[in-house]
Amino acid sequence: MRGSLAERILATVRDVEDFPQPGVTFKDITPVLADGELLAEAVQAHADPYRGRVDLVAGLEARGFIFGAAVAMELGVGFLPVRKAGKLPGPTVGVDYALEYGSARVEVHAQDLPDGARVLVVDDVLATGGTAAAGCRLIELCGGSVVAVEVLTEIAALDGRTLLEGYAVRSLATV
Ligand code: AMP
Repeated sequence: MRGSLAERILATVRDVEDFPQPGVTFKDITPVLADGELLAEAVQAHADPYRGRVDLVAGLEARGFIFGAAVAMELGVGFLPVRKAGKLPGPTVGVDYALEYGSARVEVHAQDLPDGARVLVVDDVLATGGTAAAGCRLIELCGGSVVAVEVLTEIAALDGRTLLEGYAVRSLATV
């Protein structure tokens, strides 16, 4: 029997131990991208609750670009790349956030985010939640409102939802 979408995503995402550094189990979503049927189902599932409810999809670099752009097309709305520092030609607006060691920054072209736009934030993996929380803050800083955060996979043990308190967070498959 065919399993649920969540079961099939979990069976397809590949765990890579000690990547990119010792002690990390990397959730490799590329096998999901390679499975055309599963990819289409995942994109549709991400999009379905938001038809007519969002004006823009924001994807978090880098794998959030892949799912986010596909979800934007499924919803018939535009796509906003939320990039790591220094990648966009500008002018940009950015938000700094803390990592376990050091800090990082995400940036957008604010001119592409109309004031009051309803934005769906998309990424592949929710881990500590720091990246998604910074993306949400950035959208609000630019005058948008975050409708929800959608991720393909959530690593529940890392408790990313704590940093995303107040936002609607949905994962298609949780480990
Ligand atoms: P975080 O800010 O800790 O929630 O990390 C989320 C971002 O880092 C996402 O853009 C993920 O693509 C990536 N990421 C973090 N941890 C993992 C992991 N264990 N496997 C795959 N991607 C990860």
